[in-house]
Amino acid sequence: MEAINHQSNITTLLLSWYSKHKRDLPWRETSDPYRVWLSEVILQQTRIAQGWDYYLRFVDRFPDVQSLAEAEEEEVLKLWQGLGYYTRARNLHTAAKQIMSRFNGRFPSGYSDILSLQGVGAYTAAAVSSIAFDAPHAVVDGNVFRVIARLFAVASPIDTTEGKKIISEIAQSLIDREHPGIYNQAIMDFGSLVCAPAQPKCMDCPLQPHCLAFQENGVNAFPVISHKTSVRERYFNYFHIEHENKTYIQKRNGSDIWKNLYEFPLIETPTPMDFLQLVQTKDFRHLFPETGLRSVDLRLTLRHQLTHQIIHTRFYRVMISAESAFVPPEGLICIEKQHLSAYPVSRLTDKYMKII
Ligand code: SF4
Repeated sequence: MEAINHQSNITTLLLSWYSKHKRDLPWRETSDPYRVWLSEVILQQTRIAQGWDYYLRFVDRFPDVQSLAEAEEEEVLKLWQGLGYYTRARNLHTAAKQIMSRFNGRFPSGYSDILSLQGVGAYTAAAVSSIAFDAPHAVVDGNVFRVIARLFAVASPIDTTEGKKIISEIAQSLIDREHPGIYNQAIMDFGSLVCAPAQPKCMDCPLQPHCLAFQENGVNAFPVISHKTSVRERYFNYFHIEHENKTYIQKRNGSDIWKNLYEFPLIETPTPMDFLQLVQTKDFRHLFPETGLRSVDLRLTLRHQLTHQIIHTRFYRVMISAESAFVPPEGLICIEKQHLSAYPVSRLTDKYMKII
């Protein structure tokens, strides 16, 4: 009984805090499930300030599920360019088609139907079903993990199955069953604005009397993280080839990152290599079988961090003399230089294109 009162006090305080401090965001002006879903997908791993413009552009170009489903994938990827994690855009597009074919174009209202859509996980299904349909499913995102880990001094690391399970159960027990959507948005906003990762505002926090981490003087010890996830280091060498007014790109495929996006010809090496080492490789000789190169300049080096990968990148600018008959290897697409910006590319390639 005491635990239930403790939890309902926390819920009441969170809702009261939210009624005074709620942020006005464009996707909060609607309960249209399509727009709620779109905003949730855009905001995963994206700051609100950055996602805001993308959301407005998407709803302007694709105001409903049907318009998104009928678009070409390349247009969806191009509109997404700069947000990163392009799988989200591809899944968004596939899920819109699934809604058209499996649900006659009506956004499904049941949690399990929403969860069955391409790319939709427990977090998004809970967010959409609670905000658009008032279904009592608690969201558990990074903010919720941190707030609950501190409030309840959860000792299990949040990046383990056990830690995730404990926090999900507590989150579900805290949900306000009459206003689940408002509660979910309240706890996420609270985590972002008050119980922040660094320097949480404990002295102004309405939940402070209920916070075990604060009472134990251990706010900085929570959430506990095991850091067992490994990060893969990769070495990319891109070749921005210029031959008269032409350049060359290729489309990524397979199951690797950035599927269906375009990029310059790439040689990936298992270890860092300078240019002299690179020219000795079989891949280099395959890319440039003839010696018609006029000049090769290392234009930019970038360290690009993804969730589980660090890409150490070198961009080379290769000028091929006009007299040379450059025959590109299979898979390379020859385009006019000025058409380069029309192709959807990764954030890494976009950074290079903005600098050159
Ligand atoms: Fe977070 Fe501090 Fe409030 Fe506890 S007291 S919930 S750590 S802001």
